[in-house]
Order: sequence, then structure tokens, then C-alpha cells
Amino acid sequence: MKVRFSDLTLNMPALLLGTACVFATFIQTVVAEPACEVQIDSNDMMQFDKSELTVPASCESVTLTLTHSGKLPAAAMGHNWVLSEYSEMQAISSAGIAAGLENNYLPVDDARVFAATKIIGGGESDVVTFSIADLKGKDLGYFCSFPGHVGIMKGKFIIE
Ligand code: ZN
Repeated sequence: MKVRFSDLTLNMPALLLGTACVFATFIQTVVAEPACEVQIDSNDMMQFDKSELTVPASCESVTLTLTHSGKLPAAAMGHNWVLSEYSEMQAISSAGIAAGLENNYLPVDDARVFAATKIIGGGESDVVTFSIADLKGKDLGYFCSFPGHVGIMKGKFIIE
């Protein structure tokens, strides 16, 4: 009896460790991933509903969902979500005007654009997933490249 009791006692830490590992994996799956998924809404008033988006540096990739809760079509009040260096937003937006709506008002294959959704109209949404591995330490901003919108529709993108 004594031997059996002793075996059981020795096994308890291993048993607890096993339970802790399973629990930690569960927490990681349930909690860590949603932090890497961000949402932003736009509207017919030419506004984003957030002026700042923050994601943890531990994210392997970030998934952004852009929604448009207005009613106006993309040709009149279209919005997209574009990520770049904060200082490049105005220049990219200006260059995007000539590219037209068919190119989502963005210069084609422009290396300054780190991520972008398509231009959407009221009631629509779009999702973009991108890696942040090469973006850490940069002064990042996001904006809408629809002509005339960058002055108001912009914000800070923070990796911390
Ligand atoms: Zn816009």
C-alpha cells in the first residue's frame, strides 16, 4: 500500500503539468488569435469609426475587416483601407487618383502599400490578411485612397 501511495504522489506534479499545458494551449487558441483580427467601419459621412488600430507584435499575421455601414455606392462614397508608412499616405493617395476605381484608387504594384482592401460601397465589406513581420518599428498609418478622403479618413496603426 505504501509503495502505491508513493507512486501516486510522485505522479501528481506530472499530472498537474499536463493539465496546465492543455489549459495553456486552450487559452492561446481562444484568446491570442482574435487580438490579431481587427475591424473598422466606414460610413456615408466619409469617416472611419476608429482613429487608431493596435495589434500585438506577436501576431504572425493580421486580418483586417473593413465594413461600410452607409448606403451610397462605391462610385460616390467608396472606401478602402490602405496600410503604409504614415508619411507616405498623402503621396500614395495622390498617385492613386489616376489609377481609377478599377484599381481601387491605388498605384498598381506599389511597394509603399503594405496591405489594402478593395474599394467598397454601402452595405459591403472586404477582408485583407497580411504579415507584420517586416513592419515592426515603422511609423505606420492607414487611410482611404478614394479621391479626397485621405485628409479625414486616416489613423495610426500600432504594433506593440
Ligand atoms: Zn473613403
